[in-house]
Amino acid sequence: MGQSYNVAVIGAGAAGLVTARELQREGHRVTVFEKANKVGGTWLYDSRVESDLLGLDPNREIVHSSLYKSLRTNLPRQVMSFLDYPFVKRESGDRRPFPGHEEVLRFLQDFARDFGLMELIRFGHEVIRVELVDEVSHEWVVESRTRETESRWESKEEVFEAVVICNGKHTEPKVAEFPGRDTWPGLQMHSHNYRTPEQFENKIVVLIGNGPSATDLLKEISPLAKQVHLAFRGSDIMLINLKNYDNAWPHSPIECAHEDGKVVFQDGSIVEAEVIIHCTGYRFHLPFLKSNGIVTVDDNRVGPLYKHIFPPSLAPWLSFVGLNYRALVFRVLDLQAIWVAKVLSGKVKLRTQEAMAASVEEYYEQMEKAGLPKYHTHSLQNDEGEYVSWLAAQSDIRPPKSWEEITFFSFVKGIFRHGENFRDTWDVDKWIQEIESSD
Ligand code: FAD
Repeated sequence: MGQSYNVAVIGAGAAGLVTARELQREGHRVTVFEKANKVGGTWLYDSRVESDLLGLDPNREIVHSSLYKSLRTNLPRQVMSFLDYPFVKRESGDRRPFPGHEEVLRFLQDFARDFGLMELIRFGHEVIRVELVDEVSHEWVVESRTRETESRWESKEEVFEAVVICNGKHTEPKVAEFPGRDTWPGLQMHSHNYRTPEQFENKIVVLIGNGPSATDLLKEISPLAKQVHLAFRGSDIMLINLKNYDNAWPHSPIECAHEDGKVVFQDGSIVEAEVIIHCTGYRFHLPFLKSNGIVTVDDNRVGPLYKHIFPPSLAPWLSFVGLNYRALVFRVLDLQAIWVAKVLSGKVKLRTQEAMAASVEEYYEQMEKAGLPKYHTHSLQNDEGEYVSWLAAQSDIRPPKSWEEITFFSFVKGIFRHGENFRDTWDVDKWIQEIESSD
């Protein structure tokens, strides 16, 4: 048995749950703070939307999940499994290879129950402050609040030896900037606050973006709307073939918007729109972390972090699980959680603070040389395989050979091959079986 610490985990989504399990397996004492009343995070569908649909008002009441009602996964269930806990098809469940969101929630609920995690979770506890009080004994104050009545909150401070932050990254909207945005008279919202298409019936809608949300929303809105105009950078590849839609058109990004309702695109085209939906992604948000400027969020780079997890000067007492994207997220979360738990128990050694800081600097320099902006820091688009193998090796895990071939990028390629209806036209089970049979 290694060292055992009193560890706080913030969040009971996929990242927090798998982190709690690994910490518990390593013999740590775990308390999970979860502001919602259930596990699941993103996968806990919430029909409510925020009072400020663009998400710009810092005082708005936050709705955590960004799911829309009809959402199905864009990755097959096999790669949304944990290493030793497969996301299997249940007799009475949604057996489609790309299931609806309810099925993912059920999987996470089962996971929490099967590993006895529910007893570790303090539901309805929102963390409002995480602060290092003593560097030598690495004591952290975690202040959380619970709602007593509609307008009254009760807060409480507790001390932990280590904190793992798993608060998610798909809640704080990133919004497109263009002149006239704030005085344009129509309805604007971020896809975070989109749930169902009915309110767009007969409307002229502009969708900004070209990622999975913009594609799904276009498919769902266009049968009801009068017109849909998609604004995106010309360099972006399109998953959707707009030729299949007789009321949808592509445009370049928005140049400006006018008080008379006109939206002008950079290619000179103009539409008189009624709705603009920003499908423009999300920002990392750590309002509770007081680290004396050691960890900052700069242009969506959370840093400095060694391997996206440990701030070198606070390691291993502060860590992050779940910052990466453009990856098979569940697999990455699992490996990150295993590593954090083993580093804390002392079974796996970290490099020195100086060596970790140098590695972070080197990574930033490589990004700069490659012309990559800071906001790409936690994307694993170009090095998922390498990162996953490195993480696995730290904890002495030998991944199956098929992992080299089954990556996020291989799914992106498959999705493009099968087009916008890939969820129903791609026999992904067969594709995965063929690759796995070569293991
Ligand atoms: P979350 O699920 O966001 O969980 C964070 C938890 O922390 C939440 O429960 C939240 O309430 C809690 N929390 C936050 N702040 C606090 C606080 N201050 N105090 C206490 N608790 C707090 N991934 C896939 O693998 N496949 C897909 O098909 C897929 N589709 C997606 C579709 C959409 C629209 C979105 C937005 C994401 C999708 N993802 C998908 C990515 C998804 O985010 C991950 O699958 C995964 O759910 C991330 O888990 P997480 O635990 O990091 O974050």
